[in-house]
Amino acid sequence: MSGQTLLVIDEGTTSTRAMLFGAEGSCLGVEQRELHQHYPRPGWVEHDPEQIWSSSLACARKMVEEAGGAGQIAAIGITNQRETILFWSRASGRALGPAIVWQDRRTAQLCSERKARGDEDWVQKRTGLLLDPYFSASKIAWALQHWPAVAEAGEDLCVGTVESWLVFRLTGGLHISDASNASRTALMDIGSGRWDPDLLALWGVPRSALPEIVDCAGSFGMTLAGHFGAPVPICGLAGDQQAASIGQACLAPGDTKATYGTGAFVLTNTGDEQRLSRNRLLTTIAWQIGGLRSYALEGSVFVAGSLIKWLRDDLGLLGNAAESERLARSVPDSGGVQIIPAFTGLGAPHWHASARAAISGLSFATGRAHIVRAALEAMAHQTSDLMACFAADGAQWETLRIDGGMAANDWLAQDLCDMLDLPVERPRFVETTALGAAMLAGIGCGLFDSLEDAAAMRGAVDLFKPDMHADTRSARLEGWQAAVRGVLARSQGRP
Ligand code: ADP
Repeated sequence: MSGQTLLVIDEGTTSTRAMLFGAEGSCLGVEQRELHQHYPRPGWVEHDPEQIWSSSLACARKMVEEAGGAGQIAAIGITNQRETILFWSRASGRALGPAIVWQDRRTAQLCSERKARGDEDWVQKRTGLLLDPYFSASKIAWALQHWPAVAEAGEDLCVGTVESWLVFRLTGGLHISDASNASRTALMDIGSGRWDPDLLALWGVPRSALPEIVDCAGSFGMTLAGHFGAPVPICGLAGDQQAASIGQACLAPGDTKATYGTGAFVLTNTGDEQRLSRNRLLTTIAWQIGGLRSYALEGSVFVAGSLIKWLRDDLGLLGNAAESERLARSVPDSGGVQIIPAFTGLGAPHWHASARAAISGLSFATGRAHIVRAALEAMAHQTSDLMACFAADGAQWETLRIDGGMAANDWLAQDLCDMLDLPVERPRFVETTALGAAMLAGIGCGLFDSLEDAAAMRGAVDLFKPDMHADTRSARLEGWQAAVRGVLARSQGRP
């Protein structure tokens, strides 16, 4: 008789975690390991597949031990950094090269060549994505061109995103990927939920190397007995942002969550409608259960918490991230300071890769509190720009559900609420990504009948209500937009 505890492996970009959940949503334990970032050349970002595997296994083993053995675990759910791609041997299970991480820009040239040929329109219609190095397809094409071990592997080659790699190792050879992760490779027709022959041809990817696409919840396979002392079923799989949407119970069309971590990712549920953005938002599979797909529109802001980290680590303006809240409250406004955090270009709605960050409006009256406040204000400004894009695409927000490391900041939560003029909800338990994976695993192993049933795991929320004069809001947005125009004007002529 198996237990009622759900084990989640959350394999993120900077760390790997395992968490234990009770079926009612309580978090019973966490184990975490840092993941080493490799930057072999400017713009390149790699992870060691063996470290991804060994950290995930070690964290999961610790949690199984804490649960009292494999028999106490009803099911495993896996959630992961998306788009990052791995290459391994089907026969030996050994990696054939490093993992190419989602942030890696080495395929900018490959993407712009195809863009110049006019391929972006049909690619967007079929995948919901843009021709950008962010997605896995161009990274696979690059590895096939540059790494002999990958190019020469033939039928022995397995390619997959992080959850696919973990499942292969956990089960000893099952090669699957769930629809939410597969939808980020730019090789999938997100309408049919299948690998698309035209997209495979565009990037020269052999079908035989790709995993079978499966649902996000179900009975996928058992772990090898040696890993945890006895086999445990793997029953939930989802990319991290989709898992966070599920963990935030964004189950009905219009439901929206925003995760403020290193970057910020906003997803609005569009139900069974695969809506194509006219404002360069992405269309993505939110989840697939029982063969039925739900979709979301997604907007990404490249810089969120990393701006606070930069103020702390590089400028030394903060002792710790939480101090930003006290400093922001210590001044009545930013004193005219605007920060446009375009450190790696501007995302939606501008999509200007060569734009660079700016701090404007400085005077001798400017103190560090004004700069820190301007940094936090930039989060609401960026989200407000995204909200306009979503609205223009017919996805009006009514409430924003926030999470991620930055969401712990009460001042920021209230400022988002004031600037968007929307109620903001913040769950007491903010690890929504892991929670979403636990919910899927719970459905997959039969603890819950449906996502609606599993949503009770989300628990209590704090609610913020808008409290700002419309004139203050519009003055701030005008200041922001003028500063954005300045940044765009300075980047004119750069690609
Ligand atoms: P990720 O999952 O992307 O690694 P997290 O969700 O853990 O990130 O969030 C960490 C980020 O949040 C860091 O960049 C940090 O600077 C920022 N952060 C953490 N606490 C606060 C806070 N109280 N106020 C503002 N920013 C914060």
